[in-house]
Formats: sequence, C-alpha cells, structure tokens
Amino acid sequence: MTLKLNLQDTFNKELPADPILQNTRRQVRNACFSYVAPKKPSNPSLIHVSPEMVEAIGLKEASESQEFRNIFSGSSILPNSNPYAMCYGGHQFGNWAGQLGDGRAINLAEVEHSGQQWALQLKGAGETPYSRTADGLAVLRSSIREYLCSEAMFHLGVPTTRALSLMLSGDQVLRDVMYDGNPAHEKGAIVCRVAPSFIRFGNFEILAAQEDKATLTALVDHTIKHHYSHLGKPSKGTYLKFFKEVAVRSMDMVIHWQRVGFVHGVMNTDNMSILGLTIDYGPYGWLEDYDRGWTPNTTDRTNKRYRYGTQPQIVLWNLLQLANALFPLIEEAALLQDILKEYQQEVDIAYLEMMKSKLGLFEKDKNDKILITELENSLELSETDMTIFFRQLGNFKSDGSQDGLELVSKAFYNEKEIVKEIEAKWKTWFLKYAERLQKELKNDTERSESMNTVNPKYVLRNYMAQLAIDAADEGDYSLLDELFQVLKKPYGEQPQHEKWFAKRPDWARNKVGCSMLSCSS
Ligand code: AMP
Ligand code: MG
Repeated sequence: MTLKLNLQDTFNKELPADPILQNTRRQVRNACFSYVAPKKPSNPSLIHVSPEMVEAIGLKEASESQEFRNIFSGSSILPNSNPYAMCYGGHQFGNWAGQLGDGRAINLAEVEHSGQQWALQLKGAGETPYSRTADGLAVLRSSIREYLCSEAMFHLGVPTTRALSLMLSGDQVLRDVMYDGNPAHEKGAIVCRVAPSFIRFGNFEILAAQEDKATLTALVDHTIKHHYSHLGKPSKGTYLKFFKEVAVRSMDMVIHWQRVGFVHGVMNTDNMSILGLTIDYGPYGWLEDYDRGWTPNTTDRTNKRYRYGTQPQIVLWNLLQLANALFPLIEEAALLQDILKEYQQEVDIAYLEMMKSKLGLFEKDKNDKILITELENSLELSETDMTIFFRQLGNFKSDGSQDGLELVSKAFYNEKEIVKEIEAKWKTWFLKYAERLQKELKNDTERSESMNTVNPKYVLRNYMAQLAIDAADEGDYSLLDELFQVLKKPYGEQPQHEKWFAKRPDWARNKVGCSMLSCSS
C-alpha cells in the first residue's frame, strides 16, 4: 500500500536550490534550501498520532500502517518527493547570528487536501548542511513537549504549527541538559510537524544579509503567491501590505500568548513564523504564578530578554529586523517605519481588549486600563496561579454578594500571605471590579460563559509535561495520551480531569524540566 497523499510541492519547485547535494556543513548562497535525505532510524516505533492532523493531510486510518511509520520516522521517502532543509539566518538574543537553517528539521513534502496546503516536516531526523556543530537529532523529552504543546495551543485558539506524529527513533542521543558537563544518553525521537509553511523571518534576513536581492524577491513573491494571495500581484504596494499583515498576525499571536500565559522562551527571529504561527517549541513554559519577569529558559536567566511581560515588545523588535530584510524591495524606510509605529499603538489596544475579555468587560470605560494594571500588580503581590485565578473569576457575582478573595483563594500558592496590606489591596480591587461590572449589559451567567471561552481551565502546565515525559521514558504512554485528550477541550469542564485544574505541586517548583528548561533538546 502507498500512502495516498496529494503531493504539491511549491517551495522546492519554485525557489532556487543549493546545487551541492552532499550532506556536508557549509555556508549556502543564492539558494533558499538544500536537498537532504532523513537519516534512517535504527528501530522506529510510533508513540502517538494526532487523528485530526492525519485527516487534515488527507490520510484516513493509514497511521496504523508500517508505511506511515516508515515515512514519518524518516526510514523511507515518499515517492516523487525531494526532501530538503531550508536556509535561514536570524537574530539570536538581539545579535545577528548569520546562517542558521534547518539544522534538525527536514521538509518531506507539501500536500494539498480540501483546498489547504500543508508542509510536512520531520524534526530530529538527522544532520543537514545547517546542523553546524550539532547532531540533527531530538530527544524524547523535547519531542513530547513540542508534540503535546503545539496541539494544545491549537485547541486554545492560538495560531500555531501542528503535530502529526511522534515516533521513537530507536537510537540514543547524547545531551548535557543543564550544560554542566554531565552529558547522558536519552531516547531519540522524531516529531512530524505540519503547517501551511515553515518560512520564518530568518529566511528573508539571510538573503538580505547576503545582498541577494533576486532570491529575496523570489522568496517574498513565493510567500505572497501561496500564503498572502489576497494581497495581489507583487509590487511595492503589495510588499508593504504583506509586511503590515505579518505585523498584524504576529501581534495577534503574541496577544494570545499573553492571554493564556504562554512564554515562548526563545523568540529569536529564526523562530518567528512568517504566517504568525507559534513555531519551535523549545524551552517554553506556562505561567503558573503570575510573574511578568518570568522566563523558563535557563539560557536567558541573566537578561530575561524573552520574559512573559516583554513578549509583545520583542515581536516589535523582530518585526524591525524583518523590515530591514524587506527594505531592498521597498526602499522607503518611512513606509516600513509607519507600520512599526502602528504596531506599537495597536498592540496596547489589542492587549487591553484581550485583558478586558478575560475580565468579562465589554462596555467602554476610561478607567479599565487602571483597573487592569492594578490587577496585574495585585497578582504579583503573592504567588498567584494565573489560570486558576481567571477561571475562578468567571464565577464572580456582580452584586458583590460574595467574597472575591474567597472565590479565587484556590489560586494562591501561600494563602497565609494574603493578610494585611496584600489582603487590603485585593479587597479594594474586588470592590472596584464589582462596581465596574454594574456598567455591563451582560448578566452574570452570560459574562461567565463568555469568560470561560477565553480563560482556559486546562493548560499544559510545566509539571504535567514533565510527568508525561517521565512515564514515557519508562515506556508508559498513557499519561501522554490522557493529556493529549484533556487539552483538546481546554475551555470545557471535564470533571473526570479536575486534578489537572490545580496549582503546580511543590516538588515541581524548582525542578529541571518544570520551571527551568535549557535549549538542550
Ligand atoms: P532553536 O533556537 O532551537 O530554534 O535553534 C537554533 C538553530 O540551531 C536552528 O538553526 C536549529 O536548526 C539548530 N539546532 C538546534 N538543535 C539542533 C540539533 N540538535 N542539531 C542540529 N541543529 C540544531
Ligand atoms: Mg528554531
């Protein structure tokens, strides 16, 4: 049997290829990608599939087949396909890093199904010309994190790349998790990721850095033709509209992150999708106690460049790098700058609107910004669980007949701290909130229902992913599947899964993999 996929490659057919076919590390010029075959894993086995994505790409029950396993582990190649690794550069932690590229991602093919184009990409399938000093592999731990989180994010309504399958390669991979000179062998794994495209800001940046205007123009035109075709034929005006829409989509993405408490951890420009999708799930984390200064990424511990509170501003900084890359096609800096200025104005409005929705506020009130700032400050007075707080807030009664603090008490990590000044601040805030709710037209039930569509009950808390990883390491995938299923309905009540609507347990507070993650994956 052959997997019946409707292959419609565009990226590797329309854009210039690196002429060298050997799989050797090199600097690539005048090209958007290099052909490269996945490494054959020694003993691949399927751990999990996303049935939705199996269907989305046009396969039915084929996931049970040996062929599915062979293709999506990199054991064999789809007939009539030409796998490749993309060439991109990027700004890492604020500095230009030069050529990076798909160092451990191999694009298998693009498929079309039900009018939707999907690129299929294996992560962890071996070396490519862009692997630099690394091995092109991925460990089970990080693969589970990407697999579970990308699907969970989709169900939360956050723009994201998706995941089709998770396989064990059967090979061992050496990693020094905390970069402290203690490397150990871990199980190797391969995730097949799926997205309309995996093009990043960095794909444009590398061509601009190489002053290769012809290839840069080809890549921009290709991106518009396939992913922004509603903007029209290539022209300076269309390029500007393209940049504007990338800015709007990226803003939309990051505002969703703020809404659900997702911290990406490595917002380098090579990790910014040109489609405004969350991409590259590495040392990401979920805010447990609300703290705008928090980042899960131990590599960023000193400067905390990519902490929760700065994510919307980092998107702007990244957009500035994209603007620089697109400049040769537009040649008028002021036009690009205007779009960046608009982002700056619009992102504050978008953030305010999003926060209002979390509070169930729909009417206009000039004091809402203050009310929200005061809430953010109060949330930081004592460790307070963001997810639980907002979910509980949905049950608040606008007539003030109920004690707000009692309602959200489950969100406090140390209830004993909610005394004196902290308690007084909270009481004042709840009074103001109750007063503000009087101005709303929706009744309590309607407001609660609406809040429950933006304040998730279930998110992939850092320790939950770690528990699934620990079990999977022992060959038990039941928790992985349980979380996969729970996270499909993050806004619904799932009484049988109430245990996942709970604060981070104390053992996970400072545990590696729970609150601290390195880039080692
Ligand atoms: P990241 O910050 O994880 O998005 O990765 C930055 C760059 O390092 C990208 O070019 C990746 O492809 C590359 N990279 C990360 N891990 C590996 C690995 N194990 N082998 C080869 N390249 C890698
Ligand atoms: Mg990356």
